[in-house]
Amino acid sequence: MNRNELVKLGISGLAALLEKGEVSSAEICEAFLDRVQSTDPEIQAFLEISRENVRKAAAEADQRRAAKQALSPYDGIPVAIKDCISVKGERCTCASKILKGFKAVYDATAVSNLRKRGFIPFGRTNMDEFAMGSSCENSAYQKTRNPRDTSRVPGGSSGGSAACVAADEVPAALGSDTGGSIRQPAAFCGVVGLKPTYGRVSRYGLVAFASSLDQIGHFTKDVTDSAILLDTIGGHDSMDCTSLEAECGGFAAALSQAPSVKGMKIGLPKEYFDLDKVSPAVRKVAEESIAAYRSLGAETVEVSLPHTRYSMACYYIIATAEASANLARFDGVRYGYRSPDAKDVLENYMKSRGEGFGDEVKRRIMLGTYVLSSGYFDAYYLRAQKVRTLIRKDFEEAYRKCDILLTPVTPAPAFKFGEKADPLQMYLSDVFTTSLNLSGNCGLSLPSGKDEETGLPIGMQLMAPSLREDLLFRTARAFELK
Ligand code: GLN
Repeated sequence: MNRNELVKLGISGLAALLEKGEVSSAEICEAFLDRVQSTDPEIQAFLEISRENVRKAAAEADQRRAAKQALSPYDGIPVAIKDCISVKGERCTCASKILKGFKAVYDATAVSNLRKRGFIPFGRTNMDEFAMGSSCENSAYQKTRNPRDTSRVPGGSSGGSAACVAADEVPAALGSDTGGSIRQPAAFCGVVGLKPTYGRVSRYGLVAFASSLDQIGHFTKDVTDSAILLDTIGGHDSMDCTSLEAECGGFAAALSQAPSVKGMKIGLPKEYFDLDKVSPAVRKVAEESIAAYRSLGAETVEVSLPHTRYSMACYYIIATAEASANLARFDGVRYGYRSPDAKDVLENYMKSRGEGFGDEVKRRIMLGTYVLSSGYFDAYYLRAQKVRTLIRKDFEEAYRKCDILLTPVTPAPAFKFGEKADPLQMYLSDVFTTSLNLSGNCGLSLPSGKDEETGLPIGMQLMAPSLREDLLFRTARAFELK
């Protein structure tokens, strides 16, 4: 198989070739490194790749396989890692100037779980600074382009991870999703994106944005690969006090026989199909997907999530409040950037933070500090927490009537650079994704069609109750096979 074909494969395709001895990990990694070299000057998905680390890990994987001691069928397959997830010895900057030069001192649990099965961390991917944004335009370093149309954004905040998978620069990538940052870029770039249940994948080693919403997940080329990665990175971790005790595994094995959706009840929340919010192309693709599920034997039912209209406001209060506390640690004393000309301690704090953080991050720290301040706490933060409970209850109610929910991921396909310069417009690209993080449940973004005029990919969002990723995979795989 030549290199051009090799880089098109996902995890399971590569594992099959490794198993047959038709390719080595070194050959796989070289093919992807070459691909990055030729494609990434334009796409700009990667902030950095340690070729040395990748080559060393590939050689070790090949040695293990030769000695019949492969760690798993995936031993020697590369996975890219978002720049907010720690990989020991490699840069970890959250695409922020304030962390310039910082190197992670330990592996995130998700990364050490990858290594246990032989996956190779492959470079650091670009993102919106501290995962705040929906286009990657907030990165302090570079603008990642959408491989499907380079005049457009790849989405965000995990835009680098979505773009490198879509551009065949790597078979899969880890990202993080606080309000949609995996599902939205997956939809914009035409790849599969999973946001697992809150607590399913350890957050140890993930730089915190909004701790009660953050979740590590991943981008893959197909649903089976997504299941393989959840089998790999999920599970209880004593290093994260919000990590769930539940067993995590067997998701990929459950897909080995073509899954059926016969008799399954798919809920269509009416608030997500609001004509004013959804572009005609997205609506058309959603209708076609619904029809496809009906012809596969699923039943569709209309449901209501009545508090959806408060989800954006609720999210931007809770997320910014938590961010303002989490980002207090970047003070010019302990990590990364320190202003060179501060005269005293206070000036050091102010100048280092003022110069080190970008505009969006500062905007959110101010907003978050405001909603937590005495006098406003009850009116904003506490109220938002109560609304959060109502949103969570909406989902519980809906799941009494159906097994799974289907909605659009975004109101419209990928937008152009600079198109959403107004922060509020940018925030609105998350209208369909933030509720899921507020509820803590799991969701998956699946490529489901194209905009006929522009050819841009369009995704659908599947959402399931907590710990029911099996339902997401089953439903998504049935669509893939249709
Ligand atoms: N786009 C959303 C925001 O800007 C979501 C970010 C995320 O999920 N990390 O907050």
